[in-house]
Amino acid sequence: MSMTALADLLIRRIAATGPLTLADYMAECLLHPDHGYYATRDPFGAGGDFTTAPEISQMFGELIGLCLAQAWLDQGAPAPFTLAELGPGRGTLMADVLRATRTVPGFHAAARVMLVEASPTLRGIQRRTLGDHPVTWADTVDALPEAPLFLIANEFFDALPIRQFTRHPAGWAETVVGVAGGRLSLGRTPPAPLAVLAHRLGDTMPGEIVEICPAAAPIMGRIGGLITRRGGAALIIDYGGWRSRGDTFQALQDHRPADPLAAPGAADLTAHVDFQALAQAAAPARASAMIEQGALLRRLGIDQRAARLAQSLTGAAQSQHLAAHRRLTDRGEMGSLFKALAIHPPLLPPPPGFDLSDA
Ligand code: SAH
Repeated sequence: MSMTALADLLIRRIAATGPLTLADYMAECLLHPDHGYYATRDPFGAGGDFTTAPEISQMFGELIGLCLAQAWLDQGAPAPFTLAELGPGRGTLMADVLRATRTVPGFHAAARVMLVEASPTLRGIQRRTLGDHPVTWADTVDALPEAPLFLIANEFFDALPIRQFTRHPAGWAETVVGVAGGRLSLGRTPPAPLAVLAHRLGDTMPGEIVEICPAAAPIMGRIGGLITRRGGAALIIDYGGWRSRGDTFQALQDHRPADPLAAPGAADLTAHVDFQALAQAAAPARASAMIEQGALLRRLGIDQRAARLAQSLTGAAQSQHLAAHRRLTDRGEMGSLFKALAIHPPLLPPPPGFDLSDA
């Protein structure tokens, strides 16, 4: 196996200044300006390393768009408002949202579209996907203006760097990336007490692993603050669960699991999202219950939409469409692995599909 240029750089850096946390390692692998995974390529689709829900079917973005538009109407159609997406990939989800909401009176006229995207390569692809629709790009959520905020984030938080800890009787050993025999290799720091994990001493046993995503809380704090002060809603969809448990750090290359240390910068690195941590960091904005992606899409009407689209298709196009419907909703596929959470203003109900009391 040939060593990537980034592996070479990281090995020299570790030799000089010591092991890296997984968060430092992930940040370099994903976003290094010359060698980072997202900074240098378009990883989506059949020719890429993975496929996301909006790339599987237009129905995903259409239903998410109508959900956001209904939440906007329910809040009195505030104008202007920010229509934002975190980590828009190819721009497919936003394009589907904009197409599906064209006929919602006043929605497009009031929307200021803002895309939070770190990768210059993907910004270029997003520009082409969205044609001449006016959009602005931002590096971080700090640039979101003080205005009502309707936001989507699909498979964004799983790409944020995590730190990983193994429980010991009275402390935590952190997983780090060091060098052994001239190659990158995983190691652990000596165990020590850690204030941010004090609450996990009660629900874990020695030997168990927990992960934290330090970048997520400030992002959710900013979003929750805007939604509390100005109104709006945020829809977060990702794979993960309620409260982190276990080793979920993983690499994907050519649609297959890979060794996360084997080819830094050439494989996608992710970790499961801890939705409880996201919900807590959005306070005082309220969080809905976390629900499965399949259940959310059904509550938003995917079965009816799929049946209608199927009528206008024949042959291979029809079977492909039906397979995409199953892939998004079936429990054995993305339907239950992926979860959804909505953030909304303290005194208002959650957006359509997230209010479990009207099931
Ligand atoms: N939402 C898209 C793509 C998900 S991949 C889809 O569903 O298809 C993750 C996206 O987040 C990519 O666009 C990547 O470039 C972007 N990204 C990753 N880390 C980021 C960061 N720290 N800040 C801004 N964007 C980031």
